[in-house]
Amino acid sequence: MTLSPRPGLLDITPYKPGASAPKGAIKLSSNENALGASEKAAEAFRNAGDKLHLYPDGGASKLREAIGQEEGIDPARIVCGAGSDELLQLIGRAYLEPGDKVVQNEYGFLVYRLVALQCGAELVSAKETNYRADVDTLLEAAGTDAKIVFLANPNNPTGTYIPEREVRRLRENLPEDTLLVLDSAYTEFVDEPDYTSGMALVDEYANTVVTRTFSKIHGLAGVRLGWMYGPAEIVDVIHRVRGPFNVNLPAIEAGTAAIRDRAFMAKSKAHNDQWLAFLQQQIGGLGYEVTPSVCNFVLVHFPDEPGRSAADADRFLQQRGLVVRPLQPYGLPNALRITVGDEDANRRVVEALAAFAGT
Ligand SMILES: *Cc1c(COP(=O)(O)O)cnc(C)c1O
Repeated sequence: MTLSPRPGLLDITPYKPGASAPKGAIKLSSNENALGASEKAAEAFRNAGDKLHLYPDGGASKLREAIGQEEGIDPARIVCGAGSDELLQLIGRAYLEPGDKVVQNEYGFLVYRLVALQCGAELVSAKETNYRADVDTLLEAAGTDAKIVFLANPNNPTGTYIPEREVRRLRENLPEDTLLVLDSAYTEFVDEPDYTSGMALVDEYANTVVTRTFSKIHGLAGVRLGWMYGPAEIVDVIHRVRGPFNVNLPAIEAGTAAIRDRAFMAKSKAHNDQWLAFLQQQIGGLGYEVTPSVCNFVLVHFPDEPGRSAADADRFLQQRGLVVRPLQPYGLPNALRITVGDEDANRRVVEALAAFAGT
């Protein structure tokens, strides 16, 4: 007899990470930090090598204390996870039952789909306007019975954000018992005055949580570390469903050093400000439509014409040692997502696209 997994699991297309770069090539496919990681975090990670025989502190207290201090929030209302990925999965595991409705924006982060399908929930995607989440369509999709609404703000792969007043309008018009998950993975890169990371909304409204990551501004994607801030009751539930040692010891050490290294964060932000503007301006100058981004990547649109398409551009870039992200799985077959790299990488991308445009 064959063994059957839970209904719906075989409908899942496993997440396909950004392609790894062959030797000598430059990886701009996963929105990793162009400057690497904080040297202090790397040193803390290396020092953890002396303690590999020990179980980690299951509550990651030291890390939560450090995050609480830096963010000015109560450490008791933080849960850490193996990447924000794990926290998103745990939220699904804790709250979703088969048949429940989960809502996301049209080009929402693919992990939300995985979470919904793993739990047998129904995923509804709300149309966007100009590659931006649309609160009206989100509310319409949610109706009176959505269990969870996921909103990455700013969003990956589009790079766009919706302003604080729109996030508030969403929260205020959702049913109170709909869980709103604000995924603020790129929040540290944003300084638009009308933007909010959503942290204050967690305190002001019921059933609102924010997820954050060490993978982007802190450059610790390989460590797998993220955290969630939420109301006490939700935090309590997530603690019940997480593994007792879900965050490993080197991750706790590296994360604690990273969150305290404000100088490295500032350096990463300044680098991104400079080179995000460069990429948008230069690639836009070649005649391509570039969706305005507040993240550490750009979304570039290509004409749907043989020889000039996103797939052609992707091949052309690959031949020049540049690995970027094709977006068929997101329903954006005519676009490529390109991570902000170091100076050399960014200049090579622009030169390659100029050559491609001229071919
Ligand atoms: C990169 C990213 C994350 C981070 O995921 P981790 O599991 O913490 O590495 C979360 N959400 C979005 C939208 C992202 O792009």
